[in-house]
Amino acid sequence: MAKIGFIGLGNMGGPMAANLVKAGHTVTGFDLVPASLQALQAAGGAVAGSAAEAAKDAEVVITMLPAGEHVRQVWLHQGGLIDVVKQAGPLLIDCSTIDVASAREVASAAEAAGLSMLDAPVSGGTTGAQAGTLTFMVGGSEDAFARGQAILQGMGKNIFHAGGPGAGQAVKICNNMMLAINMVGVAEGFLLAQKLGLDWQKLHAICSTATANSWALSNYCPAPGTVPTAPSARDYAPGFMAALMLKDVKLSQAAADQTGSPTPLAAQALSFYQAVVDAGDGAKDFSVVFRWLAEQPRG
Ligand code: NAD
Repeated sequence: MAKIGFIGLGNMGGPMAANLVKAGHTVTGFDLVPASLQALQAAGGAVAGSAAEAAKDAEVVITMLPAGEHVRQVWLHQGGLIDVVKQAGPLLIDCSTIDVASAREVASAAEAAGLSMLDAPVSGGTTGAQAGTLTFMVGGSEDAFARGQAILQGMGKNIFHAGGPGAGQAVKICNNMMLAINMVGVAEGFLLAQKLGLDWQKLHAICSTATANSWALSNYCPAPGTVPTAPSARDYAPGFMAALMLKDVKLSQAAADQTGSPTPLAAQALSFYQAVVDAGDGAKDFSVVFRWLAEQPRG
């Protein structure tokens, strides 16, 4: 069992750190929000007064932070974690969803300090974080992946090695870009069906077994009354917030710009999720794009 420093104990990091405690690891956590520290203590973890204190003497240091700027700040800034831990030589794992360029920048700084780092973003949302059933998409060397696997198994069910540094983030943003577009497609289909006088439940039953089927359609259908467990059945309570989906499609568009990849549908989808957020629904599940679209004039 390992001694783990865990920085970023929010909606995802909190339950992930608690699951590591449950798996028998010794976890010391840090977050800027005092309530998050209390939650880790209640789950049996220890708390520190700073990120550096949480990481000191750890065998593994994990971050679960909002965005690339936070990850760069925590790992790289003057007196940042890479500096603090380089003597002890722990494995470094960043589980946040961030831009590929930041992930690679931090991984090369770690390598220059003689440390191994994994980018290991997750899929599965807060329910997956609580249940310990997350999917991890991991970038980094084979050796680092082998070292990190047992730790990640304490928080997730499916652990994939996607390739070298940044590859985990690359898979994550491609996945979410496809999902963002797919959700808009399902929304358009169900809205057209309504105008054609179809029953949503019948359409759902038929299309779930036809060629239009997808995870967004069969498990997460945005049309209310079709899937009892979907956010659409509870006024679009998340789930996965529209504001986070907007962040991820911005990341995939930035990567598409950098690499010259054509993504016209993602550009369109991004403008829809931006409109959802601007309309005040950023904290709703991203499938609320259905309701926003229903209110748009044809044009
Ligand atoms: P969150 O905002 O709930 O948690 C982030 C935490 O980081 C906060 O508690 C914040 O106080 C802390 N933090 C920020 N800067 C810090 C610093 N300098 N030092 C210490 N703590 C700091 O966000 P979340 O929902 O837990 O998401 C975390 C990451 O996981 C994001 O990148 C998100 O895109 C990704 N993600 C989220 C979900 C989801 O459903 N919520 C699903 C998959 C991936």
